[in-house]
Amino acid sequence: MARKSVVCLLILLMGIGVVVALKGSNEGSTPLAPTFDAGGRYDADELDYMGVIYENRTDIVAFNEGYSESDNCPWGFVHNGIDYFFRNGSTVIAAAPGLVESIDISDNGENVENRFYITVVIRFNASVVVHYNFEPWTQDSSDKDLQLEMLEIQEGDWVDIGEKIADFLHVGGSAHIHFGVIKDGQWQNPEPYFSENAYNEIMAMIHSFHPDWDLYYP
Ligand SMILES: [Zn+2]
Repeated sequence: MARKSVVCLLILLMGIGVVVALKGSNEGSTPLAPTFDAGGRYDADELDYMGVIYENRTDIVAFNEGYSESDNCPWGFVHNGIDYFFRNGSTVIAAAPGLVESIDISDNGENVENRFYITVVIRFNASVVVHYNFEPWTQDSSDKDLQLEMLEIQEGDWVDIGEKIADFLHVGGSAHIHFGVIKDGQWQNPEPYFSENAYNEIMAMIHSFHPDWDLYYP
């Protein structure tokens, strides 16, 4: 009887070991979706037609950070995305079509001025996702709930390029959306992903605040 129990326990432990090993192998990288299929909804071969995420340039109140791989840039630090500083209540639109893969909330801690993030990840194809980090710049958890309610998408929805995904909640002074493109788990210089029109638009927006700035600094 005792021997039987030991064998059962061993089998159970081996099972747990396999589950832990499988889980562990996913950590540390953005999960890829090798079987992802856009089902003919849009051209999912290559994202070279990305748009901006605002409808009206006048909804953007500042430009403080673009994409930089070193501190040799006007903002002076490495930054893996584009920060869109929206007016309160602005319409936010999808930069690319895709499947809403996740909507997550993070709490950065009680003493952090910019405490709550709402992160929306929309998958474009098997290797590329587009990331929208809503940062309403608040310490009040009800603001986080409100921004969540202002989303017009849910996990599992398909969105079109240019489709409205949210209204933006601006609570504190530096509220913005941190926006980025991730390929195979790596943040990308967004420049080559834009359509020519959208690239011209975002550069015009940037130059309206800083005439000599670029979007991307190596
Ligand atoms: Zn940012």
